[in-house]
This record gives sequence, C-alpha cells and structure tokens, in this order.
Amino acid sequence: MLLIIGVLIAIGLAAFVATPLLSAEGAGSSTLPVDVTPLADLKRRRLVVYENLKDLEFEYQAGKIGTQDFQSMRQNYIGEAAALMVASQEAEPLRENDAVIEQEIAARRASRKGQPPQDYNCPHCGFQNPVPVKFCGECGTRITDRPRNP
Ligand SMILES: [Zn+2]
Repeated sequence: MLLIIGVLIAIGLAAFVATPLLSAEGAGSSTLPVDVTPLADLKRRRLVVYENLKDLEFEYQAGKIGTQDFQSMRQNYIGEAAALMVASQEAEPLRENDAVIEQEIAARRASRKGQPPQDYNCPHCGFQNPVPVKFCGECGTRITDRPRNP
C-alpha cells in the first residue's frame, strides 16, 4: 500500500518536473502557495526520491515485493534522482538570471493581488518552508506572522 502511494508520488513528481518553470500562468490556482526557488525545490524533490528509494529497499528486504519489481522500480527512482541532480546543476547557473526571475516572481505576485502574500521563509536560516508552518522545518525558529497592511 505504502509502495503504491510512493509510486504515485514519484509519478506525480515526474510530471511536475516535466512541467516547465513558470508555465502555469493560466493555472494560478494549481501553483504552490509559496514561491520556491527552483534549486531549493529540486533539492526537496531529490530528498523525496531518496526517501522512496530507502522505503523500496526496505520493502524488498522485508520480502514484500519481488526482485523484478524491486529492480525496475529502483531503476526508476535512480533515474529520477539523476535527472533531478542534473536539473539542479542546470538550475545553479540560473542564478545569473536572478533579476529576470525576480521580475517574473514580482509579476506573478502582482497578478494575485487579491490574496496577501504569504511567506513561510525562515527569518533565521532562510529555509523556505513549503507549507504554512509556525516553526521552521529546518531549524525550528518560530515563523512570526508579520502584520501586513492591505
Ligand atoms: Zn530556519
């Protein structure tokens, strides 16, 4: 069961990775609630893939899946991890284009004026928490709710 969920997550991730950055302009509602940097996002996804790999190996050792399934799924995960690795290496030089990206982000923010911007970035370590949290997922610092003027 867990395995099936893992596979679904992996497929979802693969589809997500395949979606070009910032292409979701028309589908604003389906975008993430936070603006994450491509690099941080890729790293997070890679962690998920590694996590799935560990689970897979555990399931295999526990005799829950056959050798063939194990090997083909393991190949998939490793391929995905490699692809993410390459992608984050490609994302790194993108930093030169930070100004362009900033403009894109500003434009996207402006287009969602209706809702106040919500940042869950840690003021202490800078970690971009992917979901609304009270405490930083990385260092545990309290993420204060900054009062904002409308
Ligand atoms: Zn932090």
